[in-house]
Amino acid sequence: MPQKRNRATKIVATVGPASNTPEKLKQLFLAGVDVFRLNFSHGTQADHGTVLAHIRRLEEEVGRPIGVIADLQGPKLRIGRFADGAITFGPGKRLRFDADVDRLGDADRVPIPHPDIIEALTIGSTVLCDDGKVRLKVVEKGAGWLDAEVVSGTRLSNNKGFNIPDVVLPLSPLTEKDRADLAFAVEKGVEWIALSFVQRPEDIHEARALIQGRAAVMLKMEKPAAVEHLTELVELSDAIMVARGDLGVELSLPELPAIQKRMIAESRRQGRPVIVATQMLESMISAPVPTRAEVSDVATAVYEGTDCVMLSAESAAGQYPVEAVSFMDDIIRHVERDPGYRQVLDATQAEWGKTIGDAVTKAAYQTALAVDAAAIVAYTLSGTTGLRAARERPPVPILGITTRLETARRLALSYGVHAVHVAEDIHSFGEMVDRAVQVAVEQGLAAPGDRLAITAGVPFAKPGTTNILRVTTIGDTTPPSKHDVDATTTA
Ligand code: PGA
Ligand code: MN
Repeated sequence: MPQKRNRATKIVATVGPASNTPEKLKQLFLAGVDVFRLNFSHGTQADHGTVLAHIRRLEEEVGRPIGVIADLQGPKLRIGRFADGAITFGPGKRLRFDADVDRLGDADRVPIPHPDIIEALTIGSTVLCDDGKVRLKVVEKGAGWLDAEVVSGTRLSNNKGFNIPDVVLPLSPLTEKDRADLAFAVEKGVEWIALSFVQRPEDIHEARALIQGRAAVMLKMEKPAAVEHLTELVELSDAIMVARGDLGVELSLPELPAIQKRMIAESRRQGRPVIVATQMLESMISAPVPTRAEVSDVATAVYEGTDCVMLSAESAAGQYPVEAVSFMDDIIRHVERDPGYRQVLDATQAEWGKTIGDAVTKAAYQTALAVDAAAIVAYTLSGTTGLRAARERPPVPILGITTRLETARRLALSYGVHAVHVAEDIHSFGEMVDRAVQVAVEQGLAAPGDRLAITAGVPFAKPGTTNILRVTTIGDTTPPSKHDVDATTTA
């Protein structure tokens, strides 16, 4: 059983029909998955509940904390239905959009079940249907209807999705379905709730009011309006997903790479985990090896210092889910061995934070480099100290020791953090060092003769107190003991 991963960048895999059995989930974990994503755009609550139970059993079996993200569908807009199921047209064709969904559409008319969206669009607005395959421009508007001219594309069929990039939608990012799914997921105890199509800071407040601290909030960046408020939205959320699928429809594709870079840099600056998502190894849905371009895409995200890379359909519905994870794992390890990778990460160090915890964590990072420590050990209750350490992107593992299982699971998403759940708090300086040494040796992060840079907070066992740094050299006689490491018992 692998005690530790030989890489700092983490892997998120979406679960679906190709991966939802206990056997497949285990294979994916062994191949390198650190966090699983349940996509509530597909499947029933009962399906997701079953998968979550499988993951919790797997966690117990492998003795490592595993994170779970419940990804809510959000207000995905869809057109209505046509009498003949589909219509075809050419450029220049004028189509009437209205909200009269009781009347099926025809060659001249498209029903859309969103009167407020018709209201929000103005002359000149762009409407993108079917992942951008059909592009229209609004040319005229009346009471409850609008006419749009086809710019490109030839066909629309029943219930295709549509995007309106240049309008801030008069919509909450939480639909009725999302609220029900959120309640379900929080009740079942997932660590992360991912919000789709967030546009405004208020959208996050709304979700937090429902979650009430029972899960962390991940914000999916997939609206141009959200990109405009990047700094503020990163600050308000607990993690960011660069959701390149919808973002690529709403923005022009060539804009994506620069925006990805900016999102990774901003997330790291603020100490929030960031995931690069969608089409990373897309061709592996139906092929056992990726394209050169895909390998390069995963590598680029790693070079940019992302916390995680993600698989969507590759692991949820593809023919080669395990191979896709193995490839990601391999690509990441190759990049992380490249001296050029280290230079870039070190050259883009985050500024010193102004709190005691920030200063101590920065000092631990610099001390670990200076004394060539085998690991940085962070005692962390809420996970804040683990996140701070990850922000430095250190060249050695961060051993995050916590008595809170949910903290260990959340840190599964963070760069370089090997989180270990222990049953008991430490009470003294002696215990602080002994426990760190024990756990580091047991987990295969250090051996006799190695040094550790340890941070903790005094008084012990109180969150938010990180204020001491201790360096220790592991003696040859330290007996590794198993008694107080427990990855899965709820604290
Ligand atoms: P989705 O989100 O897979 O739920 O659409 C990710 C994305 O848009 O990239
Ligand atoms: Mn999306």
